[in-house]
Amino acid sequence: MSYCEYVRAHPEDSFNKDYHDREYGFQLTDDAALLERLVLEINQAGLSWITILKKKENFHLAYDGFDVDKVAAYAEADTARLLADAGIIRNRLKVHAAIENARRIQALRAEFGSFKSWLDAHHPLSLQEWTKLFKQTFVFTGGEIVNEFLVSTGYLPGAHDPDCPIYWQVARLQPAWTRGLRKVVLGAHADATPPETR
Ligand SMILES: [Zn+2]
Repeated sequence: MSYCEYVRAHPEDSFNKDYHDREYGFQLTDDAALLERLVLEINQAGLSWITILKKKENFHLAYDGFDVDKVAAYAEADTARLLADAGIIRNRLKVHAAIENARRIQALRAEFGSFKSWLDAHHPLSLQEWTKLFKQTFVFTGGEIVNEFLVSTGYLPGAHDPDCPIYWQVARLQPAWTRGLRKVVLGAHADATPPETR
């Protein structure tokens, strides 16, 4: 069952419905939002996504809204505070990964200006190439985490089934994968204009 099918079959699951309808596959532009998504995907490892969605607001508060500079500056006392916070996932490796990856984003900014500019500068890549690049650049970024992060932020296709109502809502905003589609898959004559507006 695809994510779209799951959400359609479970309208009572408002956490997944809200995420599916409003966030999944939609582009993120600012570094705090991108760091937040990366951290949430890392924290999901070994757990269910609903567990993370239920704790999403707690994560946001505990990590200062994922302000890159604030998280990058976290010291031992912050690590201790996060590891004592029952509202989030208390895992030392995952807490360390959040802080370390904020520092890695700071380093990217020196050359590319922002995390998004770094992503845009490398797009399009295959999942294998992205995973290799993420492993060179970040910590705790295996293939599954990289895939979910890039699908959820619109750099790789596949967030929504083509018959899902959200599919065209997302495509209309021309996330990165629609640009990659023209360039890589469909060639120069393709366009990603929704059929009803042609
Ligand atoms: Zn969908």
